[in-house]
Amino acid sequence: MLNSWSVAGQSRRRVRRPGRLVAAQIVALCMLGCQRGNPSGPSGATASGAEMSGRVVSSRDGQGLAGARVEIEGHAPAETDASGLFRVAGAGAGRRALITAAGHLTRETSLKASLTIDLISLSPPFAVDFYRELARNATGSALQPLQIWDDPPSYFVRTVDREGRPVSPTVVALVVRVVNQMVVQTTDGRLAGLAVESGPEPPVDLRGWVDVEFTSDPEYALCGEALVGTNPGRILLSLNDSNDCGLGTAPSPGCIAHEVGHTLGLWHISVPGLMQSTVVAGATCASGRLTPIEEHHASIMYSRSRHNTDVDVDPSPITGRTRSRGAAVVARCPLVLPG
Ligand SMILES: [Zn+2]
Repeated sequence: MLNSWSVAGQSRRRVRRPGRLVAAQIVALCMLGCQRGNPSGPSGATASGAEMSGRVVSSRDGQGLAGARVEIEGHAPAETDASGLFRVAGAGAGRRALITAAGHLTRETSLKASLTIDLISLSPPFAVDFYRELARNATGSALQPLQIWDDPPSYFVRTVDREGRPVSPTVVALVVRVVNQMVVQTTDGRLAGLAVESGPEPPVDLRGWVDVEFTSDPEYALCGEALVGTNPGRILLSLNDSNDCGLGTAPSPGCIAHEVGHTLGLWHISVPGLMQSTVVAGATCASGRLTPIEEHHASIMYSRSRHNTDVDVDPSPITGRTRSRGAAVVARCPLVLPG
């Protein structure tokens, strides 16, 4: 199936014809539930003269964590006060820091001029094993860095399948709807400015885009497949009704959402019955929405940066972009059962 992606890649050399795009839809997303802000406390951290100060908060509720230990390279450890504040004399932006607190994952990060450091709470519903499956491909051969988007991707939904047949407008509209709801749900609204367009030919330059293709090839035995968190991203959906993908010759909402989840950096879950399970079925298949447990862990993923590594290590500003092309992993999906 890798060859099929190279076939798709040929489309990059086509001349873009904006006038042929149809059903263009630009969606502005709201910022929801963002835990990065610190509106009430001391405004983040400052590197004032020879002192670095900041605040350590919990991902559970955004509140300051008392008694957290902050170890900055080259300096004696500091401890946060009752409101989560810390100060370290002589520390400057760019230094690496290790932050630990009871009931939370230890985080390694780089100090910034303005600094609020949130630690991932180990309280339910968070579970490290589940997070490693969804965010790091623990069901695969090796744990991966986060393959999330730092900037909002655009999605292009093709209106002609690989065999040259028109795709039903109903199917195109369904994909557009599911893409919109999945991006908002998976990222907790963090990626404002999502664009979803459709037409017979995608943009020439696909950087920043996810190209959604269809096939009615009777030899294609899957319901769909996608690249996990790559830029450009790719999805292939089956219109072959003999594959039993949910809605006759249309993919089910669950099948579409599952593949969109892959493009947003979600891997497979070993627990059955969830959206990113290897077999999507039942109500989840019909709804096209992440389950609450997946939504919780996906929101934590998108509170981090691309290439954050296990367990919670942020990339260095100097070396963090060395794998910026991401892992070109094709997540193939087995049959998606009718809802
Ligand atoms: Zn899959």
